[in-house]
Amino acid sequence: MYCPKCRTEYLEDVKECVDCHVLLVDDLPEETPLEKIKWVALPVLPGKVYADMVEEVLSNMDIPHFTKSDWATSAYNISSSNLVGTKITIFVPEDYHDEATQILNEILGKK
Ligand SMILES: [Zn+2]
Repeated sequence: MYCPKCRTEYLEDVKECVDCHVLLVDDLPEETPLEKIKWVALPVLPGKVYADMVEEVLSNMDIPHFTKSDWATSAYNISSSNLVGTKITIFVPEDYHDEATQILNEILGKK
């Protein structure tokens, strides 16, 4: 028997999870991916400075995001933060695309 909530395995005669107080099930359902987010790319930023500013605003607004730089060194985990001209793309979930694009444009001074 398994708890459908915390996925703990119990003996056959146990009916309820001691932690979650939910009824146990015989089989766990297929593990669903935690994040089914569709990520979309924002317009490319001309440098880390802008990326940092955008990221700060996104963080403040609780908008999930991740960045990707086109600099090959990032693949080797070497910081490229001091390199001028690194192009950085920020990805946000599709739902936040419009909002994030607006933020980005404001930071870049475009209206
Ligand atoms: Zn449980």
